[in-house]
Amino acid sequence: MSAPSPFSLSGRTVMVTGANTGIGQGIAVAVARAGARVLGVGRSAMDATARRINDEAGSFVAITCDLGDARAARAMFEKAWAEHGPVDGLVNNAGIIRRADAVDFSEDDWDDVLDVNLKSMFVLCQALGRMAIAAGRPGKIVNIASVLSFQGGIRVASYTAAKHGAVGVTRILANEWAGKGINVNAIAPGYIDTNNTAALIADPDRNAAILARIPAGRWGSPEDIGGTAVFLLAPASDYMHGAVVPVDGGWLAR
Ligand code: NDP
Repeated sequence: MSAPSPFSLSGRTVMVTGANTGIGQGIAVAVARAGARVLGVGRSAMDATARRINDEAGSFVAITCDLGDARAARAMFEKAWAEHGPVDGLVNNAGIIRRADAVDFSEDDWDDVLDVNLKSMFVLCQALGRMAIAAGRPGKIVNIASVLSFQGGIRVASYTAAKHGAVGVTRILANEWAGKGINVNAIAPGYIDTNNTAALIADPDRNAAILARIPAGRWGSPEDIGGTAVFLLAPASDYMHGAVVPVDGGWLAR
């Protein structure tokens, strides 16, 4: 019998937040295809992802939770662990963006983005860390950062702050938990074709300017991110802690 693939997620349970659409759906499908049972978290029902994963003969459980509420996020994670068994992997992907000039930026647009993109990210990491450490189990966490974890961007003050924070959360937890068998890493996507970026793609001038700036010469797809997430959840990445992997068509290399 051949040795199991170091890229297999067979027998693992992986929670993916924001699995309903875009990058989260791409990750959920890739993770299911690699053999894991997926716990997909969204604000709304998740028919499309469930259907795609079921078509792939994967296993999928849809969970509804507003991750803008950190207490609800923690309670959701603990309930999922109690009902579905230990969670081996967590992908913190759910995210929102608000656009306004810095001088006009509202407190609500600051708080809403920080709550979903950063506070719930930390709270869910903490929930997995607490339960895995108490149970003496290993764990794998993948946080979805951005190229705006390293650049300023424009008219996206709260998003840029949250995405810089995502790298900070990844590094502090990697530092504290590497010796406890919990891997915490991040992916920094570049420009990916999703609902989030539809308006940019629809604007011919902005689309052309973005494409001219991407060395690969094309927008990324959710599937481009899915494979990297599988790698960071699988045994192949067991010695990786605190890494932030750009998947950006070369954007940050430029
Ligand atoms: P989408 O808008 O397609 O997906 C965002 C997902 O997050 C949705 O499924 C949404 O669920 C979920 N979500 C948002 N708010 C909440 C909430 N309060 N509670 C629960 N779920 C919530 O965007 P993308 O796929 O583009 O973005 C996914 C991640 O990738 C984000 O973190 C984003 O910042 C990041 N990213 C995206 C890039 C891009 O170019 N697209 C580039 C770099 C990073 P629902 O539909 O149910 O509301």
